[in-house]
Amino acid sequence: MPIATKIAGHISKSSWIRKMFEEGERLRQIHGADNVYDFTIGNPDTEPPQQFREELLNLARHPVPGMHRYMSNAGYAETRGAVAEVLSEAAGLEVKADHVIMTCGAGGALNVVLKTILNPGEEVIILAPYFVEYKFYIDNHGGVPREVWTDRGTFQLDVAAIEAAVTAKTRAIIICSPNNPTGVMYPEESLAALGEMVARMERRFDRQIYVISDEPYARISYDGKQVPNIFRFVQSSVIVTSHSKDLALPGERIGYLAANPRARGVEQFMEGAVFSNRVLGFVNAPALMQRLVAKLQRASVDIGEYQAKRDLFYDNLTAMGFRMVKPDGAFYLFPQSPLADDVAFVTMAQKHRILLVPGAGFGAPGFFRIAYCVDRGVIERSLPAWRELARDAGL
Ligand code: PLP
Repeated sequence: MPIATKIAGHISKSSWIRKMFEEGERLRQIHGADNVYDFTIGNPDTEPPQQFREELLNLARHPVPGMHRYMSNAGYAETRGAVAEVLSEAAGLEVKADHVIMTCGAGGALNVVLKTILNPGEEVIILAPYFVEYKFYIDNHGGVPREVWTDRGTFQLDVAAIEAAVTAKTRAIIICSPNNPTGVMYPEESLAALGEMVARMERRFDRQIYVISDEPYARISYDGKQVPNIFRFVQSSVIVTSHSKDLALPGERIGYLAANPRARGVEQFMEGAVFSNRVLGFVNAPALMQRLVAKLQRASVDIGEYQAKRDLFYDNLTAMGFRMVKPDGAFYLFPQSPLADDVAFVTMAQKHRILLVPGAGFGAPGFFRIAYCVDRGVIERSLPAWRELARDAGL
């Protein structure tokens, strides 16, 4: 059956994770599941918080009539109100339910926003290293991705480099904090500098430039740090997020988008986004999940467990000679590849039954990604294999 040439090309370019998955299956067959250390996928190993189960049981025992029907494309007013309340506190300004749309995850929210704002050929700046799906999502809606590197030593925003990439065709900049794949969080000063630059470029090119803040890891932040709310710093901003990671619900496809109430033309944007949510075929976010997450806006999985895994991994790997930025959040490490060729290094790691994703998969050759949302025992058992790998790689 024929498929579009473009899709065939995309498949071949995005095959890293699938290749790693297949290699993992092969190694598991040979060595047994316990002897393969798979750090490839950002699929949380934890279960949702106890409160989620209680609310789920409660809803099953006391069903609300009509609870499985279609609803407004934007979602239930009660859920949007609960999201808006928490966002208002974080942003220090009144966010209303009308500024929130419930979506099928952050991935759904990103597609809704991009469909709503992009004319054909308009540019979206993405910051390397980046979540690889951004490029495909931008392409879905006729946009053109423009890659700009973050600071190569710290992975922090390089606002001057972003400014240099802004053109008369730029419509949006996507940021992600805490970041997948680096775990870095952008501090207030960087966001303030970004907001000031974007406002200046909006005046220069006489057009609005959106900052889309992709933040599904926002509640997974360490050492008491908190992700600063983007609405405080950038007027033309939209948050896209989900409960895939913070409530460990990735299979349930529940998230939201929220627009800055101070943004120029926010009503028109929201009207467009509701329409896009409908015609992308999402129609509305899953009804049952909306009812549950309305009650869980202040909950999260145990962040302490993730932080302890970060420390275990970071301390051991740096002692072995690997070099990396210490993550502020999310559940990834993004060390420098000890071999200049990150693909060769990842292939070498497979010989030690360690599965990783090369930095090339994130637009960042020369690095590799470790996803540590796995059982702590897997990390502990893998350490002798890491020591051998470090020796083989000349560390
Ligand atoms: N954005 C980033 C940076 C991610 O890492 C992910 C998932 O891994 C997503 C968006 C999409 O998440 P979901 O659609 O499950 O909410």
